[in-house]
Amino acid sequence: MTLLTTRGAEEAQWVLCQGCTTPLYRKRWTRGRKVCPECGYHARLTAPERLDQLVDPGTLEPLPFPAVTEDILGFVDTVAYPRRLADARARTGLDEAVVCARAAIDGHPVVVAAMDFRFLGGSLGVGVGQLIAMAAETALVERIPLLIATASGGARMQEGTLALMQMARTSAALGQLDDAGILTISLITDPTYGGVAASFATLADVIVAEPGARLGFAGRRVIEQTIHQVLPQRFQTAEFLLERGFVDLVVPRDRLRAELSRLLAAVAVPPGGATHDGRPVPTVSDPGLLPESDPWEQVRLARKLDRPTTLDYLSMAFTDFQELHGDRSGGDSPAVVGGTARLAGRPVMVIGHQKGHTAAELNQRNFGMPGPDGYRKAARLMRLADKLGLPVVTLVDTPGAYPGADAEERGQAVAIAENLRLMAGLRVPVVTVIIGEGGSGGALALAVANRVLIFGNGVYSVISPEGCAAILWQDPAAAPRAAAALGGSARDLLRLGIVDGVIPEPDGGTGEDPLRAADRLRAALVPLIGELSDMTPQALVADRRERFNAFGTALTVETGLRPLREEVS
Ligand SMILES: [Zn+2]
Repeated sequence: MTLLTTRGAEEAQWVLCQGCTTPLYRKRWTRGRKVCPECGYHARLTAPERLDQLVDPGTLEPLPFPAVTEDILGFVDTVAYPRRLADARARTGLDEAVVCARAAIDGHPVVVAAMDFRFLGGSLGVGVGQLIAMAAETALVERIPLLIATASGGARMQEGTLALMQMARTSAALGQLDDAGILTISLITDPTYGGVAASFATLADVIVAEPGARLGFAGRRVIEQTIHQVLPQRFQTAEFLLERGFVDLVVPRDRLRAELSRLLAAVAVPPGGATHDGRPVPTVSDPGLLPESDPWEQVRLARKLDRPTTLDYLSMAFTDFQELHGDRSGGDSPAVVGGTARLAGRPVMVIGHQKGHTAAELNQRNFGMPGPDGYRKAARLMRLADKLGLPVVTLVDTPGAYPGADAEERGQAVAIAENLRLMAGLRVPVVTVIIGEGGSGGALALAVANRVLIFGNGVYSVISPEGCAAILWQDPAAAPRAAAALGGSARDLLRLGIVDGVIPEPDGGTGEDPLRAADRLRAALVPLIGELSDMTPQALVADRRERFNAFGTALTVETGLRPLREEVS
């Protein structure tokens, strides 16, 4: 492609880094993708430079520039709008503030839109709106993912209310891609503000940002003038937004292509799909085959710190895990992790509670006790799985939802309730495995599944034994008695049909032999996911509703609920 503009030989040989004011040799700086080698400052790229850096050489096919009505208002500020447009076109060599094209990234076909801040501040007017809508339409018709690299100051004032309407138009276009199950990715570059931030930039399934890129609705200066306060330096930066759950990944420019390629690959089904290695499935579905165990001892085993956590299983039983971050409404709970991964080659979404092996890890993960941001992150990822047709695997390991004042203030109960309803209606297979402790509603909020499995030493109960003892015995020391009364062992759960199968643990527990435990987890999941994937979306929803609708009926207790296929081999 030949979109790279050449500015002639008069360009200075040195540039001053806008981040640290170090003079940089221009050729070296350009070779380094305009990232400062001293401070890492990511300077702005033009749309042609951006496309050059992202897509496979020779694959770019620009979409035609559509005829649109410009200057409907006859707008004049210091110069007439048509003059401004003409100047921008002459200066940039572009038709508008965005370039849209079909292309490929590492061989993955994609429709890509790259905005250019040089063109009237990357402002969103009728032309940009039309181009983004065309790009979305192309992705829809050709069923390929849409990637939008944003850079914009907001809506284009010179086009008045028609520019404002482009926010609604582009948002609706992305909504159509949601309905059609087409992956959308936005790449936030500096700066992304106003009407672009509040439409297609933040509606994408996965939001990737460059380091330091700022994203927001109102700009810093406007806010500071309004509230008469000085905002922190990091305000609205990619890193600031990652911590608050608005961005999935912050990726330096030199790794962007590889990361975007991974994301595009994450949802692509390989030819032949998942494979089952043919070994017998180590799942027990007859309670009579399980040993009687001391309930309190069971609780202690389920809590052992050496047990593999969700992230451990993700690295051992799955491949290609791509963690996604954030609930998109203000938080990114460390107590819940999730993202796309592959299970024996098949793309899946994995979500689980995350504990840790040491006091420091447990602290950092809030002991696996999520606040509402954890449940909302899980919900967001489950909705994404539903959209993309990815089976959902949840790994449950929590003492319970976080019992804190701030969690209550942010709607803990609502977040849990909404997950229960959401999971009931997911149109994709859902399998839950209780890998340790299944504590109360905080566990169930990730466990409304078509099939529920538990590791042999796992527990699942309505309240922790300590909590039950404190309430009913008014004595926390009565926990062992409470544990016996509550009956949450794998054997009890299987008898009641709360779980469909038990994965036996290696001698000494999963912590003694994590690799073997992971192997058994994968062997149990692969055929289940395969079997459920043959069902229609309607059948999957009906199956799940029926499973939970049956609890407490005489039938359930006597016969066990629709057992898993017996010892499938
Ligand atoms: Zn610098």
